[in-house]
Amino acid sequence: MREETRKQYLDSMGIQVYRLRDKASSFETFELIEADPVDSKEVALPAPAPVKEQASADDDLMSYMAMDQTQPEADSEDDVLEFPLKEKPSMPGIESLDWGGLQQQVANCERCELCKTRTNTVFGVGNPDADVMVIGEAPGADEDAKGEPFVGRAGQLLDNMLKAIGLDRQQVFIANILKCRPPNNRNPSFEEVTACESYLNRQIDLIQPKIILSVGGVSAKNLLKTEESVGRLRLQQHQLVNRNIPVLVTYHPAYLLRKPSEKAKSWEDLKKLKQVMSQ
Ligand code: URA
Repeated sequence: MREETRKQYLDSMGIQVYRLRDKASSFETFELIEADPVDSKEVALPAPAPVKEQASADDDLMSYMAMDQTQPEADSEDDVLEFPLKEKPSMPGIESLDWGGLQQQVANCERCELCKTRTNTVFGVGNPDADVMVIGEAPGADEDAKGEPFVGRAGQLLDNMLKAIGLDRQQVFIANILKCRPPNNRNPSFEEVTACESYLNRQIDLIQPKIILSVGGVSAKNLLKTEESVGRLRLQQHQLVNRNIPVLVTYHPAYLLRKPSEKAKSWEDLKKLKQVMSQ
């Protein structure tokens, strides 16, 4: 990738690149900058001080594969979650629904208690023929109000992450594990995930993406039916349970806003995504 283009992508992800004049010893310093507006799905924590990270200047994507073999530390995305360890039998009749029928069924869904507190269902946004599906956790207050996923502050960062690899939200399809907002942005319950799972699976079957980017622990653990941490899951490529679709895992943008020092790792994950897409 041309240096200038790469810099533009990184800028759009909020990463500023400084290159030392001495090429032989050069490395890039990522200064991590935040967006301003408040995302309702974020935990109210004091804003972290900007952190400087170092990353390899090597643009060769293969070097990432070889490089990032360190055992990650546990992180706050690794909360113990209640989630269905096995995919449940799908909703009767859902396999015959087309995109419009599925949208309608989601809009009228009353399969769990969240229908009583939601303002809007959040079906997903983007291209139903997308090569890339991005799957997050569940709508927050902004998403519930607008009926669109990732529209808050975390959504702005997600948009910039996608732009950093040359994608925008209309090119990919963005969905969540849940279609409705859990009150107070608590983690989805076992019952809610079980009730909603068939909708997401039908979306995946209709879209047939080349790859899924799973953002955050709730997404990854539910998609991959594992209790492994995001820090470990992101180190390798996975396959969606019962489907021949590759899955890459990275940190949730809301987590990256709380812990900007992890953005450099997400950038590595995005480069990996780009590499898989080009295969
Ligand atoms: N976080 C998510 O996981 N999904 C959204 O749609 C918004 C915030």
